[in-house]
Amino acid sequence: MRNIAGIDLGTTYSALAILNSLGKPQIMPNTDGERLTPSAIFFDEEDAEVIRVGIEAINSRHINPDRAVRWIKRHMGEDFIKTIDGRDWTPTELSALILMKLKQDAENVTGKVHDVVISVPAHFDEVRRKATMEAGSLIGLNVVGIVNEPVAAALYYATSHEVNGKVLVYDLGGGTFDVTIMDVKGHQMDIVCSHGDHKLGGVDFDQAVLKLLEQAYREHYNEELLTTDEDRAKYEDEAEDIKRTLSRRPAAKKMLYGPAGSLKVEITREMFEEAIAPWLARTDILVEVALEEAKLKPEDIDEVLLVGGSTRVPAVRARLEKLFGHEPKTAVNVDECVALGAAIHAGLTVLRENPDEVDAGLVGGLGDVQLTDVCNHSYGTICAPIDRESGRRVIQNRIILKKNTSLPCEETQTFYTMREGQTELAVTVTQGEDSDPEYVNKIATYKFELPPGRAAQQPVKVTYSYDVNQRMHCRFEDVESGKVLEVDFSVDSQGNLKDGAPAEQMEELKVN
Ligand code: ADP
Ligand code: MG
Repeated sequence: MRNIAGIDLGTTYSALAILNSLGKPQIMPNTDGERLTPSAIFFDEEDAEVIRVGIEAINSRHINPDRAVRWIKRHMGEDFIKTIDGRDWTPTELSALILMKLKQDAENVTGKVHDVVISVPAHFDEVRRKATMEAGSLIGLNVVGIVNEPVAAALYYATSHEVNGKVLVYDLGGGTFDVTIMDVKGHQMDIVCSHGDHKLGGVDFDQAVLKLLEQAYREHYNEELLTTDEDRAKYEDEAEDIKRTLSRRPAAKKMLYGPAGSLKVEITREMFEEAIAPWLARTDILVEVALEEAKLKPEDIDEVLLVGGSTRVPAVRARLEKLFGHEPKTAVNVDECVALGAAIHAGLTVLRENPDEVDAGLVGGLGDVQLTDVCNHSYGTICAPIDRESGRRVIQNRIILKKNTSLPCEETQTFYTMREGQTELAVTVTQGEDSDPEYVNKIATYKFELPPGRAAQQPVKVTYSYDVNQRMHCRFEDVESGKVLEVDFSVDSQGNLKDGAPAEQMEELKVN
C-alpha cells in the first residue's frame, strides 16, 4: 500500500500522520515514543555532521545555545541564515532537517512515506509556501500539496464529528495565529475567509513570563538574572513550564539562581494574563476583522473550534466564550488535529490526481468529503495608468486575483507598454488590498525583456491563477511576440526589490 501522510511542520512542535487503509489518519509516534516532535535542531559540538532533531536538540541546546536552532518557521521565506562551522543553513534547509526526522521515524514503522501534504498558516504568502514545499522536496518527499492549518484542523474535525453551520477556527500555536471562518454541512466544507499573524503565539507568552522573572530578580537584588545565552536558554524553558502550570493552577512557583543569589518567585495567573494582554488583544482584532469580512456577527457563529497548544491558556477560552456566548469546542486534540487533517487532505489530493493508485478502502473513507478553499490574499501587479484629473502617470497597484475567491481560480488582465522602443518591463507581483504600492507586499520582481523597435501600447497579458493545492501561478505574456515570463516564487525573486529599484526607473519601465 502506498503511504500517504500529512505533516504539521510547526514553529514549536511538528507531527506526522499516516492514512490507514480505510482513509483514517493516525499520528505516528517518533523514535522517542512521542506523538509530537519539538521543531528544534542541535549541531553536535564535536562533529557538525551529527545533527540532533527533536527532544534531543531541546535538551542539548543548554550545552551550547549557539549551535541550536528553534522557531525556524518564523523565518521561512526570509533571507535568515544560521552559520555552523562555516556552513550556511537557510530556513528551508533547516526545515528539511526536521522533516527528515519525521520521515525517518515514520518509515521505521510503516515503510516508505510516498505522498505528503505539509500544512502552513493560512496567511503564509507564496514565498513562504514555496519554501515549505521545497523543504519537503529537498529530502525526497513527494509534496502533493500544501494545506492551510485551520483548514486541515477543520477537515479532521468535520470528518470525525457531526458538524453543521458556521464554524470559526481559532488557531493559536507556538509561533503563529490564524482565524478562519467556514461553512460546514456534514462533509461539505466551504472556507469563507482567514486572517492571521505569523509572529504571534506561545513563544511570545514564554518571553512575557521570562520578563516577569527578570523583573522580580532585578527588583530584589538590583542585578540581572540572565548574563549568558546559556542562562537565557535555561530560563526560557522555565518560563514555558510556568506558563503551562498556570493553565492548570492559579499560581506557579520557581527558584531563580542568579549571580547575586537565589530567589523564590511566584507568578500568578493574573500577572500572566496582564503580561500577555497585548497579544490577546491582537487576536481579538483579527477575529473581528474576519467576522466583518465574512459579514457575520459573533452570534452567527455556531461553533468555535480550538486548534494549537496555546488555546489551553484559560484566558483564551474565557474570552472566546464571552464573545461568542458559548463554550469553544475542544472535541479534537488541539496538538494533533492539523497533522491528522493534512493526511486527509493528502488522501483527497491523491484520490483526485491519481485515483487508480489508491486502495478501495481509502476511496470509501474519503469519497464524500468536499472542500472548497479560497485564496487568502489579493494578488496584483504594479502599473502606471494616466490619472484622468491631472493627466499624469501615477504608479498603482492593480488587483488581479481578489481575496476570498474560491479555488481553483484564474484571472487575466491586459496591460500596455508605455513608450515607443520600450525593451523592458519591471514586473512586480504584489500581495495586499491597497491601490498604493507603498502599502502592499512585493512578493516577486522580475525584468521582462521585450523585442526592440516597437511602437508604444503593446499589449501584455497578465494571468494569475491559484490551484486547489494552495499554490499561485503568474504568467506575463507579450502578445505580439508570444514571449512569456512565468514567475517563480523563490526567496531570490524578492532580491532585486530589496536592493531598491529607484522609483523613476520603475515608472519608466512599468506596464500601462
Ligand atoms: P506550533 O504548531 O506553532 O508549533 P502548537 O500548536 O504545537 O504550536 O503549540 C505549541 C505551543 O503551545 C507552545 O508555545 C506551548 O508552550 C503551548 N502550550 C502547550 N501546552 C500548553 C498549556 N497547557 N498551556 C499553555 N500553553 C501551552
Ligand atoms: Mg501547529
